[in-house]
Amino acid sequence: MTESEISCCKVGRVAEVVGIDVDRELADRWTGEDRQSTRELADWFNRKLLAAELTAAGIPTKDGEVDNYYRLLTDDAVSSGDRIETRRELEQRGVSVDTLDERFVSHQTIHTHLTECLEASLSEPTLSERIDDAETTLGQLQSRTEAVTDDTITRLASHDALDIGSIDVLVSVQVACRECNHQYSVRELLDRGGCHCTR
Ligand SMILES: [Zn+2]
Ligand SMILES: [Zn+2]
Repeated sequence: MTESEISCCKVGRVAEVVGIDVDRELADRWTGEDRQSTRELADWFNRKLLAAELTAAGIPTKDGEVDNYYRLLTDDAVSSGDRIETRRELEQRGVSVDTLDERFVSHQTIHTHLTECLEASLSEPTLSERIDDAETTLGQLQSRTEAVTDDTITRLASHDALDIGSIDVLVSVQVACRECNHQYSVRELLDRGGCHCTR
């Protein structure tokens, strides 16, 4: 099969031509537990590509060698002398490095492949994760209000603008339901999952 006969973006075409199967793992790595960025996934894909090309050229790839070749070919920190030498070495051993360059994909291409070809999307947070996030945000706001109030009052007292000894600041945010006028603290409202008066 030639590259033009396959209907997908560059990722799919290259994978097909080289004979590597990556779609499921790409989607898993993108949406799974420890989500990898499209940049990391592009490097992962390109290393797999490089490994396949080295194997096809009969070059045995011991542990770490693919990573090192990839670094030598692509990392900006590698000197141009080392890069040229690596390219020459691989060419002599039967790898077309120019073809490899053309086949390497960018993180944008990986993103297009995931979102348009595979239609994978990052998993939505669960309802309880949303509640947890809200509690964190509001808790931080409350702590900050307490701290700023404490500082302000203490500063006034130290300048004798206010007559008070050591203090405790208590911040409580109330949310009132307009349907029934019932009032809740934010935590109470989040814990009970709503007012429920209209249901
Ligand atoms: Zn694609
Ligand atoms: Zn209500």
